[in-house]
Amino acid sequence: MVTGLLTGHCHLSRHLQLIGIVEDPECRWCLEDEETSSHVLTECPAIARVRERHFGSSVLNPEDVKRIQPRKLCTFAKEDTTVLISLYSVHYDKEYWIDPENFRPERFLDDEGKLLPHERLIPFGNVYECVDT
Ligand SMILES: [Zn+2]
Repeated sequence: MVTGLLTGHCHLSRHLQLIGIVEDPECRWCLEDEETSSHVLTECPAIARVRERHFGSSVLNPEDVKRIQPRKLCTFAKEDTTVLISLYSVHYDKEYWIDPENFRPERFLDDEGKLLPHERLIPFGNVYECVDT
């Protein structure tokens, strides 16, 4: 489940259809639309209360989703929901980073060059683990 947050490949029906595992991309919870990360994160009526509890709103728009901290997405995902996040939206968010297009690893290093924990750092190849809060 959490690996899907990093790779973009998870058990949402639309993705499973694309890779030939299921025939129907229909949302398992509401049966009203394709089960995509966007549908689950922004508008699926069957999980509106879960979004409300985790994100403060039952309906979100894509810009709202870009601002959600990865940790909150993980706790949301723990509620039997598989969620994708866009690494691009986390790493290139111009509202958060001063110059996201420039490679500046020093943003994440202390004075001794050791990696600092940072909620917006999601290195490729790492599994982002949810931590209960
Ligand atoms: Zn749905």
